Amino acid sequence: MPAPANAGLHRELKSAVAALCSGFPDKYWRELDANREYPEAFVQALTRAGYMGTLIPETYGGAGLGVTEAAIILEQIHRSGANAAACHAQMYIMGTLLRHGSEAQKRHYLPALARGEMRLQAFGVSEPTTGSDTTQMKTFARREGDKYVVKGQKIWISRAQHSDLMLLVARTTPIEQVKKRSEGLSVLLVDLRHAPGLTIRPIRTMMNHATTEVFFDDVEVPAENLIGEEGQGFRYLLDGLNAERILIAAECVGDGRWFIDRACRYARERVVFGRPIGQNQGIQFPLARAYADVEAASLMVAHAASLFDEHQPCGPQANMAKLLAADASWESANAAVQTHGGFGFAEDFDIERKFRETRLYQVAPVSTNLILAYIAEHVLGLPRSY
Ligand SMILES: Cc1cc2nc3c(=O)[nH]c(=O)nc-3n(C[C@H](O)[C@H](O)[C@H](O)COP(=O)(O)OP(=O)(O)OC[C@H]3O[C@@H](n4cnc5c(N)ncnc54)[C@H](O)[C@@H]3O)c2cc1C
Repeated sequence: MPAPANAGLHRELKSAVAALCSGFPDKYWRELDANREYPEAFVQALTRAGYMGTLIPETYGGAGLGVTEAAIILEQIHRSGANAAACHAQMYIMGTLLRHGSEAQKRHYLPALARGEMRLQAFGVSEPTTGSDTTQMKTFARREGDKYVVKGQKIWISRAQHSDLMLLVARTTPIEQVKKRSEGLSVLLVDLRHAPGLTIRPIRTMMNHATTEVFFDDVEVPAENLIGEEGQGFRYLLDGLNAERILIAAECVGDGRWFIDRACRYARERVVFGRPIGQNQGIQFPLARAYADVEAASLMVAHAASLFDEHQPCGPQANMAKLLAADASWESANAAVQTHGGFGFAEDFDIERKFRETRLYQVAPVSTNLILAYIAEHVLGLPRSY
């Protein structure tokens, strides 16, 4: 395969991100995990280095790069044993503001986001009673003059306590009054710093992930914070979801590579029955298979990202990238635990921590079953099953 035109830039990005991550070793992540603390110092270092402005055009003070470069950055963070879940949303949410926001909105928010003075890290879609059937969401934004009044509840809204802004998806027309259930949803930018009626409650999870439930009790949002046209939010959401799937898939590729590196290193060093355990095919083959699966997933991630950056339809590729990469990272995680034997369960080896972290991607931001159902319907032309 020919090298991409910007292969040099990509190599530089990888080594710069790896250098930054080396300042945040395993011990840093292990201690945060034990205390369920937010990696503020890591996020600040990324911000100072300009990575949080990766997708923001240069005219607004950002780096003006694409999802391809964002994927490289996030993959490298995960490949270094770190976790980008604390800050990745700014990369996949950004597209909605860039592609569908007004010029006034871009001028207002993008320079401050690029300078790191503001964070757009919260994405409010999931609801407790709606599940994966997004169009059934109940949170309602009622228009009253020059504002919307939002009532409802969201769940699993990550980083809401560490973000200034939330990209909120809410119904603006009741589902009974629309022709298609995907109509009547809108996207609003909610300023979390000035939102009387908003309550955020953290949810403790099996890994260190700053996720929350969020209650909207008549929260007022200026009408000028509507992104794009009222009622068209589902369409904007799909763009954002494709970016999200591609970028999470890149993180899974990074996790997979980290697990395989660690497992191979251990397999070469650990001697049992008078020889390195890595000399046994029972240890080699799962790692070799996981490696092949991670490499294949990585190609699909790069393909989906380049389609996204070219503004081409990329739903199937973004979904397949997420499916293949999440499976490959989970397969690598299992192989790494098995290779480490008892030490795979010891906190000091970090394998169990990363194992818990990468398990999430079978479920979020979209579950494996829903991706399979999407491919069956939209790619294979089979009857809709959901
Ligand atoms: C740590 C964490 C962080 C998250 N962060 C965010 C965030 O920042 N913002 C946000 O909006 N959301 C977030 N989410 C929510 C996440 O996107 C959802 O959990 C995910 O989409 C699955 O939805 P659900 O939990 O409602 O599962 P459900 O939809 O209730 O599904 C439960 C199970 O049933 C299966 N299932 C459901 N319907 C079908 C079907 N028709 N066919 C086959 N199987 C089916 C699913 O695959 C799944 O395995 C987060 C979740 C977690 C756990």
